[in-house]
Amino acid sequence: MKKIGLLGGMSWESTANYYRLINEGVKQALGGLHSAKINLVSVDFAEIEHCQMEGRWQDAGELLANEAKSIETSGAEGLLICTNTMHKVAEQIEDSINIPLLHIADATAEVLIKDQRKTVGLLGTQFTMDEHFYKGRLTEKFGIDVMTPDPVQSADIHRIIYNELCLGEINDTSRSRYIEIMKMLTERGAEAIILGCTEIAMLVKPIHTDIPLYDTTEIHAAKAVEWALTE
Ligand code: GLU
Repeated sequence: MKKIGLLGGMSWESTANYYRLINEGVKQALGGLHSAKINLVSVDFAEIEHCQMEGRWQDAGELLANEAKSIETSGAEGLLICTNTMHKVAEQIEDSINIPLLHIADATAEVLIKDQRKTVGLLGTQFTMDEHFYKGRLTEKFGIDVMTPDPVQSADIHRIIYNELCLGEINDTSRSRYIEIMKMLTERGAEAIILGCTEIAMLVKPIHTDIPLYDTTEIHAAKAVEWALTE
C-alpha cells in the first residue's frame, strides 16, 4: 500500500471527512484491521482565506507548496490537496514536489465520463465557479460542459460555504437554497450537479434530492484509495 499525502485544513471540517473516507475505503478493500497510510498536514485556514480575499494567490501557493514539500519529505508517495478552490494554485504546488498530484477535477471528470454525463452544474466557491482553472479543465481536458448559477445565486452559495459550512454549521434554510439553485441548473439543462467544494456534502446529501450529485470529497478520497492500493 502506498502512503497518501493529504494537504488539508481547508477547512478541517472537510479534511476530517477525507480522513474517514480514505480509511473506510482501505478497510473495505483489505478488511480486518487495515487502515490507510496517511501523512496529513493541516494548515490554518484563516491564513489561506486572508490570501484569497486579498488576491494573494502567489503567497497562498507558496505556503501550500512548502507544506507539500514537507509531506513529500516525510514519505508520502502522492499528494491530494483537500479543497477544490486551492487547485487554483495546483501548478505552483506540483512544480515544488516530485510526487504525483492527484487532481480533484480529474478524479471528478473520470467519474462523470464513466457515467456518461455531458452537461453538469457546478457549485463551489466563487473562485471555483467563476474562474477558468476548474471549469476550463473539465471542458478542455475532458469535454464536459459546465453550467454555473447566476451571480445572485453564486453569491449565496459562496457565502454559505465560508460563513456556515467551513465553520461546521448546517442550516435547513441554506440546504433549501442550495436545492432550489440545483433545480434551476437542471431546468437549464444540467444532468447532474458537481458538489465542487469539499464541504457541500455536509449540507446536501442524496437523501435530500433526486438530482444526481457528484461529491468531490468522496470522489477524491476514493481516487486516493484506488491509487494507494494499485501497484
Ligand atoms: N473546501 C472548499 C473547496 O473545496 C472551500 C475552502 C477553500 O477555499 O479552500 O473549495
